[in-house]
Amino acid sequence: MRVRVDPDVCQGHTLCALAAPEVFLLREEDGHSYVVGEEVPPSMEEAVRKAVATCPEGAISIEG
Ligand code: SF4
Repeated sequence: MRVRVDPDVCQGHTLCALAAPEVFLLREEDGHSYVVGEEVPPSMEEAVRKAVATCPEGAISIEG
């Protein structure tokens, strides 16, 4: 599975980082999210799917 955050859509709600802190980090400047690495380890896939479901902006997309 691959994951990315659209920086133009993210509004910094933080929920993704709470759902999967190993995958999503927040920028200090604006609190917006970015991914540590696009390739998600199998052990983190469920947490990433939860992050996708909880993002109020629909900013997170996954493939595979
Ligand atoms: S939950 Fe969505 S809007 Fe909030 S920081 Fe994460 S990607 Fe951005």
